[in-house]
Amino acid sequence: MSTERIGVYPGTFDPITNGHIDIILRATKIVDRLVVGVARNIGKGPLFSTDERVEMVQEEIAHLADEATRRRVEVKAYDILTMHFAVQEAASVIVRGLRAVSDFEYEFQMAGMNNRLNPNVETVFLMANDKYQFIASRFVKEIAQLGGDVTPFVSARVAQKIIRRVERENGRKAAKR
Ligand code: ADP
Repeated sequence: MSTERIGVYPGTFDPITNGHIDIILRATKIVDRLVVGVARNIGKGPLFSTDERVEMVQEEIAHLADEATRRRVEVKAYDILTMHFAVQEAASVIVRGLRAVSDFEYEFQMAGMNNRLNPNVETVFLMANDKYQFIASRFVKEIAQLGGDVTPFVSARVAQKIIRRVERENGRKAAKR
């Protein structure tokens, strides 16, 4: 049996923000290998397709400063239960980030349900860094849609992609009118 500790960090990543990247970096300190699981999550009506979200996460990982860390992180899309995905990846922990109190109730319930599904996989919470505490993909998208500057919240690469996508969507809406 492998003694490697594997963690899964699941989310929608629509798109990946500086807050997510911070959690990825910190998670690599507690696991040997981290699989970032990009949930298909059609229900949430994502701005980016699953493939685009996976590609953006991959790109951000490719730009991490430390090569040894880069080699220990991979990205996979999934559309099954997160717990089943964790088992499939042979993970012993599911990593989640906790922002303000507002995240707590949802995360608490989710961790409890996941523990019932499989008590062998622990959910580990990392407190959001105070610099990134207020960053949420949802707000980043709203800011971009209203013409605001998103560069404090995401990488320049991601910012460019959001701006292009929002312009395309606005163009479509204008054409319909
Ligand atoms: P969801 O799981 O609701 O689709 P996301 O994909 O945005 O949410 O986030 C995945 C995980 O990353 C969640 O655990 C979420 O709490 C965490 N997260 C999101 N933004 C931040 C942030 N700014 N700082 C720390 N953790 C975050």
